[in-house]
Amino acid sequence: PVAPRRELVESVVKEAYDKFRNEAKGKNADYIPYLAQVDSKLFGIAIVTTDNQVLTLGDVNYSFSIQSISKVFTLALAMEELGPDKTFERIGSEPTGRAFNSVPAVVDMPTHTGNPFVNAGAIATTSLISGKDANEKWDKILNFYNKVAGEKLTLIEEVYKSEAATNTGNKALSMLLAKYDRIYADPFESVDIYTKQCSVGVNASQLARMGATLANNGVNPASGEQVIKREDVPYILATMTMAGLYDSSGSWAWHVGLPAKSGVGGGIVAIAPGKGAIAVFAPPLDEAGNSVKAQEVIDYVAQKLNYNLYSPS
Ligand code: GLN
Repeated sequence: PVAPRRELVESVVKEAYDKFRNEAKGKNADYIPYLAQVDSKLFGIAIVTTDNQVLTLGDVNYSFSIQSISKVFTLALAMEELGPDKTFERIGSEPTGRAFNSVPAVVDMPTHTGNPFVNAGAIATTSLISGKDANEKWDKILNFYNKVAGEKLTLIEEVYKSEAATNTGNKALSMLLAKYDRIYADPFESVDIYTKQCSVGVNASQLARMGATLANNGVNPASGEQVIKREDVPYILATMTMAGLYDSSGSWAWHVGLPAKSGVGGGIVAIAPGKGAIAVFAPPLDEAGNSVKAQEVIDYVAQKLNYNLYSPS
């Protein structure tokens, strides 16, 4: 209801697009070979409000891999199945202050899993999803994402193959979790399902709608369906604030003040609770693995529209 006028949002988004389109900083992720080949000039911005207004600019139809942003929605599904208390007990929610794929974090942290948004905690979260076999678990996860997006999403087969052929680090993390009794299904099966969830394709508009579902207390603004439990949303947003941008979540909270989640595919989605979500896609990443342009655009738009959650005005 407090969403600023559409013309204002349109002009701010256009300003941000023009200001940052030629930003040359950052580099595509290359530890997943497929991602290194994605056109690094791709740049799209989408906003979806809680009353389902949609605003898009740039390459918003390009389907990129959701990567770590998937962790948000698997967490939502785990909470749906187990409730927040058991989920918290099994995964925890402490920032690690380390890279998303850190091995020392698993060894050193008292919970070992850290939180649901670092790879170790995310693989453990995926392992919580129930099902008679891997296929049933995977179908359940993808169907849940579909409901959150309000449309059918598909796995990008080439991304999955590329990551599955190179994900020795994640397999190692899963074995370490097993050593500490912090994984709740077969470790390699869980890594495989996790790799699939990371390979789901979304475009900026779909990602913004998934974010808008969180902004709208779990109700997809397009379908009107309550797809994430209302009472689970604050836990998810709190976790996004603490760990959504990995080891730069602190500086993100300091500067921008919005829960957000990034993925190494180049997407970031940020949530303005009660108002809407902004998703930006641009592949080149900074050292922490967060899209440079996406951070710049969201920071700019959030400041101009006064979206900082911690701002008194
Ligand atoms: N699939 C990626 C990985 O496990 C996700 C990481 C990310 O987006 N930060 O390494």
